[in-house]
Amino acid sequence: RTDQGIVGLGEACPFPPITGETQATNAAAAISIRDMLVGKDPLAIDALLREIGPLVHSNPSAVAAFDMALHDILGKVAGLPLFRLLGGTKNTFETDITTSLDTLENMTAESKKYADMGYKTLKVKVGLDPDEDFARLSAIRAAVGRGVAIRIDANQGWTVPQAVYALRKMEPLAIQFCEQPVLASDTAGLKAVRSQSPIAIMADEALFGPADAIKLIRAEACDTFNIKVMKAGGLLNSIRIAHIADAANMRCMVGCMLESKLALTAAAHVVASQANIVYADLDGNSEHVADPIIDGITVEAGVLTLPEKPGLGCDVDPAFLKILRKI
Ligand code: MG
Repeated sequence: RTDQGIVGLGEACPFPPITGETQATNAAAAISIRDMLVGKDPLAIDALLREIGPLVHSNPSAVAAFDMALHDILGKVAGLPLFRLLGGTKNTFETDITTSLDTLENMTAESKKYADMGYKTLKVKVGLDPDEDFARLSAIRAAVGRGVAIRIDANQGWTVPQAVYALRKMEPLAIQFCEQPVLASDTAGLKAVRSQSPIAIMADEALFGPADAIKLIRAEACDTFNIKVMKAGGLLNSIRIAHIADAANMRCMVGCMLESKLALTAAAHVVASQANIVYADLDGNSEHVADPIIDGITVEAGVLTLPEKPGLGCDVDPAFLKILRKI
């Protein structure tokens, strides 16, 4: 809340298996960040984030929440939807929806359901036994037909030989790209897979901030990036990654953790503002029991539309806030 009464909203969605953060570490980091921000100019976003970053560099989601709130304030001060302020022109784009690992029958039924709902792009989880992954993917392709794009995500699940074997076998299934086939720390392995794979390779868990983008590009380890606001530590760093990728003639996706519509809307502003972000995977709240966010993005049959309100264009349901614990 600024001294002019402008409120900026942000969300941290820590996902321990990926970023090593927890709700408790994020909350502790948030108190440190709050103490640092009080009395400062909220529009000096770059300078503020340079101070915050080193303070809590291992809590990128906590930083992301404040970066998001600062950008919300910026947009509200400017009187512009954030994506327009950032130079974007498209207010609508396509997002995929994810089919999680399950039995062949369940994954096929779920994928078919999404295709019937009108989704044009599915993201399917793989990364177990390569032959079983292939069998599941073949059944899904047969069920949804060739008119639906399929991208896959191995979530670091394969070894290098498994990944090369699986991706070569999957070539006839017309797979758009494969996210993170091998361990995030194995840059040489990622490069080895990329050099032998007929399917494009996307770095996800291997890519947190802009420095990782430089490292992966230098290593020629991947074809595309999956940028996530929570990994990058906010919108500013997400945009920096997109710019680095653009200079390397690389296209990007923006993905998400299991976020509410607040952080998903923030991520959507990033997508809409950058021409080289051509893929979106913003379905983090699809299985939430409730989403406490008013307004923000709408998603109809895989078509995402941004709000035309100043800033992020979201609010939190006050009734929901009442039932939360205040830290
Ligand atoms: Mg992924």
